[in-house]
Amino acid sequence: MKYFTLKECIYSDTAEKKGIDNTPTPEIEAHIVESVETLLDPLREAWETYCKQNGLGVASIGISSGYRCPQLNRAVGGSTTSAHCYGYAFDLIPMNRNMREFKRFCRKFLTGRAFDQLISEGEDDNGMPSWMHVGYKHPDGKRQRGQYLSMIHGKYYPMTE
Ligand SMILES: [Zn+2]
Repeated sequence: MKYFTLKECIYSDTAEKKGIDNTPTPEIEAHIVESVETLLDPLREAWETYCKQNGLGVASIGISSGYRCPQLNRAVGGSTTSAHCYGYAFDLIPMNRNMREFKRFCRKFLTGRAFDQLISEGEDDNGMPSWMHVGYKHPDGKRQRGQYLSMIHGKYYPMTE
């Protein structure tokens, strides 16, 4: 865990407001650590290089939603089979807010790597996402489907350019 803390991987505004205890079990905590060390830390490191090369400014990445216990997942209207509930998925927003470059970067970065889903979520008509969902493994803890998707008005499509 070089660039992300466990705290930011489990923090949730909604959980705070609703008094939901979003503490993961030791098993799920291990999934979070595995996801960060295998995928998120290398992604963050490569994003820093990408930002420097392309003059994109600060390379910090925020997690808008990481682990969600079942109660929190229900509260935010997440899918019942969400990888967020297993500590395998994270919604990322770059601090420089350059969502178009971040989408492009994530796609390129994950090419040839083991991952489950990259979803450009809440896209507007110009293909600009609200955040990028990065899923390391399927909830079964085994499958890594390597899917690239766009979520537009609540529906999934092959990822747009
Ligand atoms: Zn997500």
